[in-house]
Amino acid sequence: MKSDGNPIDPTQRLRDAPRCTAMAKSTRQRCCNPAKRGWSVCRLHGAGGGAPRGETHPNFKHGLRSKEVETLRKLASLLGKNARAQGL
Ligand SMILES: [Zn+2]
Repeated sequence: MKSDGNPIDPTQRLRDAPRCTAMAKSTRQRCCNPAKRGWSVCRLHGAGGGAPRGETHPNFKHGLRSKEVETLRKLASLLGKNARAQGL
């Protein structure tokens, strides 16, 4: 058994879980369901939704227009501009 957590009330860690920050339309109050891991909202309010990123996206072709490559290209362009401005 894991030693961390409250030894008197083992369910305390469940109550301490981060809560959904979404506003419930029906009650106009915060949802407060437990948020999905890595998200600030619960499964009912969009956690885990959206298309997969990167190579797993169905429209992925070659990755030459991916965010990482675009950033790299921009940096290289800046380096070149800097070098030309300094007369190198
Ligand atoms: Zn929610």
